[in-house]
Amino acid sequence: MAFPQGPSLCLRRCGYCMLKQPMRAKHCQVCQHCVRRYDHHCPWIENCVGERNHALFLVYLAVQLAVLLWALLVAWSGLGGGPLSWAWLRHRALLLLAFLAMAVLAVVAVLLLASHLYLAACNTTTWEFMSRHRISYLKHCEAENPFDRGVLRNLWRFFCSRRLVAWEQLYSPEDGGAV
Ligand SMILES: [Zn+2]
Ligand SMILES: [Zn+2]
Repeated sequence: MAFPQGPSLCLRRCGYCMLKQPMRAKHCQVCQHCVRRYDHHCPWIENCVGERNHALFLVYLAVQLAVLLWALLVAWSGLGGGPLSWAWLRHRALLLLAFLAMAVLAVVAVLLLASHLYLAACNTTTWEFMSRHRISYLKHCEAENPFDRGVLRNLWRFFCSRRLVAWEQLYSPEDGGAV
């Protein structure tokens, strides 16, 4: 075991902000500050996704997906009817291109939404999932995920609790969080 458990855990100091980072926080080079329970920096919203806005980010993805599906339905109704011919294609080329572009975006939105729901259910983050081998509190950890408290409790905390969590106190590197 690489780390002692509980409040005695030694926290990292951010080399940029010079603040002691709470466990699971990471400094974002774009935003120039540390972000609690860092997930990723999202260029679409020009902001970091972290502990306080990750659930809202999922809502944003769900709304985006709903709008895309509605737009696909509208475009499909515009494309429908008439035999497939060059004349048909000439008249509907732009609409067809828009339909295809929206279909690609809808697939991306579905994949993002599904992957973030999975991460939320496991109580992990994109950063932890992708870079476990580089993260000091995870790389020597025996438990697959030391913050996992079961799907329902993870989802409840993720979507319904607005309280900030002292992750270093919930950190259980040996048993995966059986409390
Ligand atoms: Zn920092
Ligand atoms: Zn950022």
